[in-house]
Amino acid sequence: MPDRPLLMIPGPIEVSPRVLAAFSAPPPSHLEARLMTAFRRALGNMRRVWGAAPSSQPFVVAGSGTLAMEMTAANLIEPGDRALLVNTGFFSQRMGEMLRRLGAEVTEVRAPVGDTPSPESVAAALAAKPEGSWKALFATHVDTSTGVRLDPGPLAGIAADHGALAVFDGVCATAGEPFDMAALGADVYLTASQKALGLPPGIALLVASERALAAREARRSAPPPYYLDWLSWLPVHRAYEEGKPAYFATPATSHLLALDAGLEEILEEGMAAHLAAQERAGRAMQAAWEALGLEPVPVRRELRASTLSALYFPPGVDAALVARIGERGVAVAGGLHPEIRGRYFRVGHMGYVVRRPDLLRRTVEAVAGGLQDLGRTADGAGAWAAAEAVLGA
Ligand SMILES: *Cc1c(COP(=O)(O)O)cnc(C)c1O
Repeated sequence: MPDRPLLMIPGPIEVSPRVLAAFSAPPPSHLEARLMTAFRRALGNMRRVWGAAPSSQPFVVAGSGTLAMEMTAANLIEPGDRALLVNTGFFSQRMGEMLRRLGAEVTEVRAPVGDTPSPESVAAALAAKPEGSWKALFATHVDTSTGVRLDPGPLAGIAADHGALAVFDGVCATAGEPFDMAALGADVYLTASQKALGLPPGIALLVASERALAAREARRSAPPPYYLDWLSWLPVHRAYEEGKPAYFATPATSHLLALDAGLEEILEEGMAAHLAAQERAGRAMQAAWEALGLEPVPVRRELRASTLSALYFPPGVDAALVARIGERGVAVAGGLHPEIRGRYFRVGHMGYVVRRPDLLRRTVEAVAGGLQDLGRTADGAGAWAAAEAVLGA
């Protein structure tokens, strides 16, 4: 067995050799030419990968996805603001907790586990309060606890109809699922480095629309905490985009080199080709799970994310499966959603592995082998053949 597990959890994930090489270089100072080039190019490339308008503002700060969530909420929400939360699982719940701590009046629209609330139910919730009284709508593009992907288009449209900002948590989606920020009219699309973006863990990333920045600037209550304040970081990001160094707090310089390498790699492939490869890999893995008789948590096919699968344990199998798969050298994740926690497991298939059928195959075979260890019949070769048929198509 290799000396380290193959990372098929929903982040951190395997990174490409090019990203790894960039990340392994001696760390530059924040004033060095190679850092300035990388940071400048990465900010411009973020707009391209996000599909964001030239007037939008990308931010990159050291931290995890939770920091990107908190930074967004802390800048936009003032005490007493009305926020609508489309709650699809674990990370929506976390956003709700943040919004309440910031003093927002939060209305939640939920769906049963594995489903998303209908756009009509979201529209009805917004219509129930006076026109113009909503500050923002928050939704999770891909819910990592269920493998459910929602359709951001209708939600962004409904938010706009009610004068509310539209904020999407893309931690398990950005660069892995279609999302064109400008065309959608979304106001913030936030993510972390270690999921669909395909980088090592350690940086929080987001792009804010002009409207979102204006909302921060128009804030009447106390400013957000110093490190979280977009206005603390704005001059620094603007300076680097103009090719000038600046300092607010030391940037994660090695991460910025990795970010630049990763975004360049995606854009050289082309966004459309990159997303198509991710989508195909997602469908291939779903075909393998179907062949193994594993039932997905998302209740309808169109809700299944391309970036990860959430799968119920078959009868007679429990969380021991995750350990058995791990013994075969492949790390997958246990359940996370509180309502079904002990009943399912999760497999990430995003980023670099999408271009490595051999690694996808190892994963399918490890899952099949784990099922056999627990007394189930499972045909790993047959499951891989089903996946390969999709990949080859
Ligand atoms: C992982 C994840 C987060 C939290 O990111 P961390 O980097 O673990 O802080 C937030 N939202 C979603 C959708 C996620 O998948």
